[in-house]
Amino acid sequence: MRIDVVTIFPGYLAPLDDALVGRARRAGRLDLRVHDLRRWATGVHQAVDDAPYGGGPGMLMTAPVWGAALDEVTASGEGAPRLLVPTPAGPPLTQQRVAAWAVEPWLVIACGRYEGIDARVLEDAARRMPVEEVSLGDYVLAGGEVAALVVVEAVSRLVPGVLGNPASAELDSFAEGTGGLLEAPAYTRPERWRELDVPEVLRGGNHGAVARWRRDRSLERTAAVRPDLLDALVARHGPDAFD
Ligand code: SAM
Repeated sequence: MRIDVVTIFPGYLAPLDDALVGRARRAGRLDLRVHDLRRWATGVHQAVDDAPYGGGPGMLMTAPVWGAALDEVTASGEGAPRLLVPTPAGPPLTQQRVAAWAVEPWLVIACGRYEGIDARVLEDAARRMPVEEVSLGDYVLAGGEVAALVVVEAVSRLVPGVLGNPASAELDSFAEGTGGLLEAPAYTRPERWRELDVPEVLRGGNHGAVARWRRDRSLERTAAVRPDLLDALVARHGPDAFD
């Protein structure tokens, strides 16, 4: 899979050389390219921003710079990529969206800064490729780079061959294997630590009992923290979802 990230702060993406994503890159499973948007800026100051029409505080990233960058980056491979645009004004990032993107051959992520990007950039790109806005949550970051890190990491771990044991992703919180619910609490050795014991059922070797215990704890946890996920499960599978 190929992912291009366009940003005015390429150094912000340095962690993508480390850990799981770094290994996936070195193993050739992930072709990750980071581009400095200023390469496409013209003029002595290499400005990428200007004052917004209609007034208001802050600056906006300009259409000609982003247009030139996206034209070149999206013409550098086969077919059209899917363009992802981080913005607090977009629909939220979910594991379902991540899973859909993980089977795409090519993603491009456009990182905004300042007050964001001239709206015509997305309108224009949508004439040639699928475009999706994505929000990390109901808060405002200073730029899209952190969102790009999040998307790249979440997508990469679903790319075949990236996780050592692919089954672990199937049983994560939000995954199909857990019915889209939160994962049950987990424990490892030692059995007793600071007078706290690992639940007995997990030590007994009865796989059916372990599966039931995990499902019950998953339901409890989800009901307490994210009741909306239970509603979504019922909406998908009907009232028999818990059988
Ligand atoms: N004026 C914009 C608004 O109110 O919707 C906020 C712009 S924000 C200061 C600058 C950039 O940070 C955005 O263009 C986007 O790339 C990124 N950003 C900020 N918050 C984000 C969030 N919750 N999710 C994804 N990206 C975000």
